[in-house]
Amino acid sequence: MGGAVAIVPAGGSGSRLGARHPKQYLALAGTPLLVLTLRALLGSTAIEGVVLAVPLDRVQMTRRLLARYEVPRVLAVVAGGDERQSSVRRALDAVPAQAELIVVHDAVRPFITRDLVDRVLAAAREHGAATCGIEVRETVKRVSEGAVEATLDRNGLWLTQTPQAFRRSVLRDAHDKAQLDGFRGTDDAVLVERLGGRVIMVPGLPENLKITTVQDLGAARRWLGGRATAGRARPAGRAGAARR
Ligand code: C5P
Repeated sequence: MGGAVAIVPAGGSGSRLGARHPKQYLALAGTPLLVLTLRALLGSTAIEGVVLAVPLDRVQMTRRLLARYEVPRVLAVVAGGDERQSSVRRALDAVPAQAELIVVHDAVRPFITRDLVDRVLAAAREHGAATCGIEVRETVKRVSEGAVEATLDRNGLWLTQTPQAFRRSVLRDAHDKAQLDGFRGTDDAVLVERLGGRVIMVPGLPENLKITTVQDLGAARRWLGGRATAGRARPAGRAGAARR
């Protein structure tokens, strides 16, 4: 396994969504979000296997779920940590030593394409570390207690998404150093950045939504509905081809 392995942090409790189950297990068009995300990610044939980090009490049920939906190339399902970063770290420990590249992708972002995964991987292969994102087009304001405190210069600002990809040694060193320093980041790229590492920004996708709230789930259902309708309007056999 000298190629790429994916880590999918899926260890969140989903408390912001207010549902009984964490959001990654909620169904979208009849299929659990986690399964949709894995299928999209594994659409890239460059990914040889995937390691998932899930809540401690859901390891067994996740293994059964993945078997039921016949998700291929699952290498391990491990118990995640209290935060995203510790979940990624635990998954990292289960990645086979031969993997040269590691892709990290949030379980709650099902709308990625094979092309996006491959572009991020190619940048990481060449430069060591890559993320994807969208350039900020709106005016950005910092708000405190319901009122605007400041208007920020949006020049050069990007909203960061996943997938992110790294040479294995780059990600390993960055996590080890963060652990040593007690540094907590909200993505993996920042762990490389803080050590002075160069992280390439690859243009992401506007539809690469991170499903965090009930509103996001509604938007995701509408997006899926729209995609299905657009697919029906296309000639037979072409449905979804433009996006996958
Ligand atoms: O918490 P946040 O919204 O940033 O979650 C992004 C991803 O990290 C989700 O897929 C979530 O399941 C995962 N996560 C995790 N372990 C945690 C918290 C979040 O794997 N303790």
